[in-house]
Amino acid sequence: MANIHVNKNVHPFDKTRFEALLNRRFFYAPAFEIYGGVAGLYDYGPPGSSLQANIISEWRKHFIVEDHMLEIDSTIMTPAPVFETSGHVARFADWMVKDTKTGDVVRADHLVKGVLEARLAGDKEARGLVAQPQKDDEKKKNKRAAKAATAAAQLLSDDAARGYEAILAQLDNYSGPELGELCRKHDIRNPDTDNEVTEPQQFNLMFTSSIGPTGQHPGYLRPETAQGHFLNFSRLLEFNNGRVPFASAQIGRSFRNEISPRAGLLRVREFTMAEIEHYVDPEDKRHERFHEVRDFAVDLLDRNVQASGSTQTRKIKVGEAVADGIIANETLGYFVARIHQFLVKIGVDPTRLRFRQHMANEMAHYATDCWDAEIQNSYGWTECVGCADRAAYDLTVHSNKTGHPLIVRQALKEPIVTERLVAEFNKKVLGKTFGKDAGWIQNTFAELDESRLLEIQIQLAKGSTLVTTPDGRDLTLTPEIVTIERKTFKQSIREFTPNVIEPSFGLGRILYVLLEHNFWAREQDIERGVLSLPPVVAPTKVLIVPLSAKEEFDPLIQEVSSKLRKAGIFSRVDDSNTSIGKRYARNDELGTPFGLTLDFASVQNRTMTLRERDTTGQLIGGIDEVITVLIDLVNGTTDWTEACKLLPAYDGIQAID
Ligand code: AMP
Repeated sequence: MANIHVNKNVHPFDKTRFEALLNRRFFYAPAFEIYGGVAGLYDYGPPGSSLQANIISEWRKHFIVEDHMLEIDSTIMTPAPVFETSGHVARFADWMVKDTKTGDVVRADHLVKGVLEARLAGDKEARGLVAQPQKDDEKKKNKRAAKAATAAAQLLSDDAARGYEAILAQLDNYSGPELGELCRKHDIRNPDTDNEVTEPQQFNLMFTSSIGPTGQHPGYLRPETAQGHFLNFSRLLEFNNGRVPFASAQIGRSFRNEISPRAGLLRVREFTMAEIEHYVDPEDKRHERFHEVRDFAVDLLDRNVQASGSTQTRKIKVGEAVADGIIANETLGYFVARIHQFLVKIGVDPTRLRFRQHMANEMAHYATDCWDAEIQNSYGWTECVGCADRAAYDLTVHSNKTGHPLIVRQALKEPIVTERLVAEFNKKVLGKTFGKDAGWIQNTFAELDESRLLEIQIQLAKGSTLVTTPDGRDLTLTPEIVTIERKTFKQSIREFTPNVIEPSFGLGRILYVLLEHNFWAREQDIERGVLSLPPVVAPTKVLIVPLSAKEEFDPLIQEVSSKLRKAGIFSRVDDSNTSIGKRYARNDELGTPFGLTLDFASVQNRTMTLRERDTTGQLIGGIDEVITVLIDLVNGTTDWTEACKLLPAYDGIQAID
């Protein structure tokens, strides 16, 4: 945020200290901790909850408000037929393997990834290519990594290393049996026990439940919010006056019974998603605001590059990527750019953000093209947003199942006029002559193509035509019963099932990487971290720090708090007994971007100082003057460099007249 340069890389990223900070300041913690906790379930504390709420608020502005999306809030509990129809009951599954001796369960692709990465790291270590070997205490903490690394601290042949890299580059493309084959071929075992693992088996990730007291109505906790949008499609379309394109949006909880969640907030069993379903004409996937992002460059990793065994991204303008067919259409391209802009706005480091295209086998059962926003963090590259073209899959299957049309009816500007041959029956004579067969005859003629109708027309002109029933009886039809005529048809309405482009955000993952990207420590104080969260998402925007808890500060504190409240700025007062320096350091850990100090001079002169978190620079001014600058800083309409031109620097001495 501050554009006066601060070196945030004096100390390398220290995960142990980072995690200690998040825990100490209660950003989040294992749920049911005093009962021993449950893997993959976390509770957010005050700063984590505020941070999430601020991310959501910015998401609403960036997507819903900006593109006039229709927000909905649909239920989590879902009757089974919905997910039977959507394909989730049959296919929303991951591959798992079991330890052949202990029965421990691991996700098959995670096992292959973990073991091969550890072998490659061990190879680098053996070659002396690792600048800083992992610290002993970290190794102890991460038993799995330590075991895997120790087992693998040996040289690999060049071929083996290249082979492993190629496998890792396309890991998401392997089927279950292929993962089993990899385990056998490369002797991949459970690193915790060194035991062999079983053949991969599918495990459905949905939590089952039952609705009502009889237990006869099975249900599921939704694994995504999307189906709630699709089932409401015709109401949403009507709300939008029958027109496409438009988008619906929803923020809410989803549940996935992950096989063996280990990566903190990155893989949990209950999480908040923010999903957009943008409905387009399948014949026209342009986006009316595409021109705004055409020249916006993003780092892309397309499927061909991955298939070649590489993970080298290339920076390309979204307009070029769509023109070259790398990104399938304008609407997908528009969202790729908008997702990038959103993530950077809330504080994700753009140099650690890429868009990776799904490979053919990896794509979800409903998707035709898919790009994931992946963000690099201490766990590697993590998918934080999926952006898929779900085509007409969902609306079609739900419509077929329920008989409820989920389509768009569009009046054509110019009616389409067509001519074709049709069979006209004299129904009275047809019924009298053929009785029960009459219906079958009509249906059969309705299915005939133009060339067959032409043949029949010629035969009828010669006197009669023959049709054979499925049970082998020949029926003779004369022109008295049927005639074949050319007719003109005028179509003034077009009906189609829209295609759906879906950006799908996992807010917990975004929140976690955001914290990692913004964590650092000052050169002189490695013990205390700083979270450089941008003001737009920082849990608290301003800390008010009176020099002491003396009552004489109260009126001023009330005045400043109330003025900030009126401006919609969330502030907190810290009048604890510790030194001002300590109070600021505590709030640097919470990511509070600004501080206001009130001292005895403030009481007498109505002045106060304004501190910026990253630079620790301080300015001084009259109370109202400082508040005006502060409001602009918090709202992002000015920055610290500009603020330094508006208010004099504070040198540590406030004169008391
Ligand atoms: P998907 O429907 O699998 O593409 O997931 C959409 C988004 O949800 C992902 O980009 C993640 O951000 C998030 N997500 C999926 N699974 C999990 C999980 N187990 N824990 C946390 N976030 C998840």
